[in-house]
Amino acid sequence: MKLTVLSGGVGGARFTRGLLALLAQRLPDGAGGTTAQVTVIANTGDDLWLHGVRVCPDLDTLMYTLGGAVEESQGWGRRDESRRVSDDLAHYGLGWEWFTLGDLDLATHLARTELLRQGLTLSAATVHLAQRWHLPVRLLPMSDDAVETHVETADGQLVHFEEWWVRWRASLPARRFVQVGLNGASPAPGVLEAIAEADVLVVPPSNAVVSVGTILAIPGVREVVAATGAPVVGVSPIIAGAPVRGMLDTCLATIGVAAEAAAVARHYGRRAQGGVLDAWLLDTADADAVPGLAGEGWLVAAAPTLMTDVPAAAGVAEAVLRLVDRLP
Ligand code: GDP
Ligand code: CA
Repeated sequence: MKLTVLSGGVGGARFTRGLLALLAQRLPDGAGGTTAQVTVIANTGDDLWLHGVRVCPDLDTLMYTLGGAVEESQGWGRRDESRRVSDDLAHYGLGWEWFTLGDLDLATHLARTELLRQGLTLSAATVHLAQRWHLPVRLLPMSDDAVETHVETADGQLVHFEEWWVRWRASLPARRFVQVGLNGASPAPGVLEAIAEADVLVVPPSNAVVSVGTILAIPGVREVVAATGAPVVGVSPIIAGAPVRGMLDTCLATIGVAAEAAAVARHYGRRAQGGVLDAWLLDTADADAVPGLAGEGWLVAAAPTLMTDVPAAAGVAEAVLRLVDRLP
């Protein structure tokens, strides 16, 4: 069984960790893992150069979470790391002092940058980094080309997404998101195949605008999602009218979508009508939206979707697979 996940950072990583726990029970390989093959296609639109190193926030969150090294309280960064280097760099007045890089995290960025300077693609560098963590998934960047999400502010300036998000906490009025480098970009090796040849394709509770939206914007990706024979199931990142973490509501408002589970489903759209999903899982807190979506032709279910720990995330994955079983 092949499953493919289109992921941003924390939401996608926690979902995938739960999915792996579920698969280890359902399709055990006898060694604590699963015989199922899980491929994660990561958003790299948040990537940036900082202090001379290439930072890939979503790839790193996935790698640390699935490799068992994440700082659980944050959902990103390495457990037990200090900030001595980042703090000291600030004294030189360089970089972004509001963007903290933990010392162990910095080792990842140094290693990646070295590999890129040796001429490796981001995909090849990611394979190299992932080996160390014995990841139970195949981790693919969405593209080997640099595609960086920027925010066009009300006064027409372009601000890197991470600056808008981390420094300004999405408070700078935004006109639109611009993916710099998108036009010449192509999907990384294996991305289109992982979508086309999957038995199940999942859009986890990731940021629908800048995480999943950016992956889908890579030329060719949306088309292969539309055409794959795999059922495509999405999970709402909005619960009871609010993001679970972060400022997804502001991202949605920028593209004119309400911060509601049903509105996010309609934004993705049903494949039967030119969209990207076949089914939608929303939280039990939003169960009152089920009849409306069902009336529009959606296969939709409500379940607890708060991924407070690994068993809870496994429960979300189980609800996704129950929806898959109900699809023709
Ligand atoms: P980022 O790159 O770290 O911002 O992470 P993602 O793009 O993967 O996902 C962020 C989104 O996941 C946020 O908008 C949250 O609303 C959503 N999210 C985070 N944790 C949970 C959770 O436990 N349950 C649900 N349903 N959504 C979540
Ligand atoms: Ca991200």
